[in-house]
Amino acid sequence: MAAAVAAAACHSPARLVVDAVIGADGANSRVAREVGAGDYSTAIAFQERIRLPDEAMAYYDDLAEMYVGGDVSPDFYGWVFPKCDHVAVGTGTVAAKPEIKRLQSGIRARAAGKVAGGRVVRVEAHPIPEHPRPRRVVGRVALVGDAAGYVTRCSGEGIYFAARSGRLCGRAMADEWRLTGAVTEAGIRAGYLRRWDDEFRPTFRFLDLLQRVFYGGNAGREALVEMCADEHVQRRTFDSYLHKRMAPAEPWGDLRLLWRTAAAMVRCGVLGREVERLRRLEQQAADQVLLRH
Ligand SMILES: Cc1cc2nc3c(=O)[nH]c(=O)nc-3n(C[C@H](O)[C@H](O)[C@H](O)COP(=O)(O)OP(=O)(O)OC[C@H]3O[C@@H](n4cnc5c(N)ncnc54)[C@H](O)[C@@H]3O)c2cc1C
Repeated sequence: MAAAVAAAACHSPARLVVDAVIGADGANSRVAREVGAGDYSTAIAFQERIRLPDEAMAYYDDLAEMYVGGDVSPDFYGWVFPKCDHVAVGTGTVAAKPEIKRLQSGIRARAAGKVAGGRVVRVEAHPIPEHPRPRRVVGRVALVGDAAGYVTRCSGEGIYFAARSGRLCGRAMADEWRLTGAVTEAGIRAGYLRRWDDEFRPTFRFLDLLQRVFYGGNAGREALVEMCADEHVQRRTFDSYLHKRMAPAEPWGDLRLLWRTAAAMVRCGVLGREVERLRRLEQQAADQVLLRH
């Protein structure tokens, strides 16, 4: 896209003169480094692609699985996602990057019965941006996709946003070029950055909030699982994913949802503490039996 806009004059394979550059080179973006776009913090995502026997694969015909719990991730979720002829089994974390292999063992253990007999065909580990870079447009250089930092928290979705930001940015440059015969920083900011932020910032912020509330501890995770059974939640989530922006507010339904969320978190927090207390009592009783013998 950049090349089309750039009206490039190629002097030699090592040197290319262009009017504008779109850095779409992923989380380790060389373009971002070259222009001093600044860093973002990253999560790590690890996944194994596993080819399953036919009958095991059939289980995932209409199903993708998401697992939560400290054994699979302290701050994100583990997944079994069906791809065309295999499943991707993985997990992600920001808080426990050095422990990613233990967490991967956790998700493998949870899904063990369903992926038994499978053959690992590829192992992948990659940084995932946690938020946009401090500077996404520097002069006539613009960053898109992972290079810019466009992965939503909570869901870890980045493919759509990479494609969408690339298109938006390319179109902004092409439009300005057509109108004025030049591409400028101000034009890229107005045609790409401002539009992007207007369209997607609320969604990114909302998903950031959801991740903080629901993945940070067991009470939040239990509440998340409980709420996912709610039809209102399912519909809102489905609509938001499908259209890539938050579904329009439904005041009464949303108020009820807020109330249910708070109630579920309190209930799950109380239950969690009670379970811990019972565990401690059980442990003390076991210790006393040991001492007596
Ligand atoms: C394990 C894992 C699972 C994921 N699961 C999902 C998911 O289920 N759904 C979802 O939406 N997102 C998912 N994501 C996130 C998603 O993959 C990324 O957000 C998305 O691929 C970003 O696209 P991109 O084009 O910006 O970057 P990339 O896909 O990283 O592409 C960048 C490209 O630039 C090339 N490149 C880099 N440097 C140079 C260079 N110097 N010269 C030339 N080429 C270069 C690379 O080779 C690469 O082809 C997942 C990520 C990981 C790590």
